[in-house]
Amino acid sequence: MALPAAPFQEMFDVISASSRETRDNEPKARIAATANLPTRFGEFIIYAFENQYDRKEHIAVVKGDVHGYENVPVRVHSECLTGDVLGSFRCDCRDQLEAGLKHIGKQERGILLYLRQEGRGIGLTNKIRAYALQDLGLDTVEANHALGFPDDERDYAVAAEMLKTLGVKSVELFTNNPRKVQGLRENGIEITKRVPHLQPVNHHNRHYLETKVRKSGHLIELDALSLAAT
Ligand SMILES: [Zn+2]
Repeated sequence: MALPAAPFQEMFDVISASSRETRDNEPKARIAATANLPTRFGEFIIYAFENQYDRKEHIAVVKGDVHGYENVPVRVHSECLTGDVLGSFRCDCRDQLEAGLKHIGKQERGILLYLRQEGRGIGLTNKIRAYALQDLGLDTVEANHALGFPDDERDYAVAAEMLKTLGVKSVELFTNNPRKVQGLRENGIEITKRVPHLQPVNHHNRHYLETKVRKSGHLIELDALSLAAT
């Protein structure tokens, strides 16, 4: 395999230096590995993190130089194996992920955080249990409650620490979820702007998205979105 190009090495040195600085202050998220990542959405650098909150391998996919910059476009994506990998229509995760990478790929700089909080934090098996309850007629929130979970277990502390380690000064966050904005702000991230991140609705995910709006406070105007073919 070819060695990384010189500009990449420079960036790595800058971020490693920043990582070393925070190490003295008990860093909460540290870069454990990094490499170039050419994708169908553009050329990125991928960072694998280790953190003090959980044993999960959270990832940052970074375009351009973000260290020390303000208003860096950021998308925070939570892992969804059924949507991201298998293309499930039960949710809009894959569309959201692809749109996020596509968008960041076109910018001069940007970050997509891929958080390993499957099933809004309840894990894959429990998410599938929740799907089974939804097949019986419960909505996503009711199904989570029936399994003994709150409707959203996600925690944005680790995401905030990853952004701090990457050295961004402030971010423009692509999201429809006010909890995400609040969660990052509470953990010390300056968000200068929330940018709506809207994807087409399909016959399968309309109810899921309606529940997001009705019960979880997501800022999505469903009627304004076209009904995509399934
Ligand atoms: Zn999903």
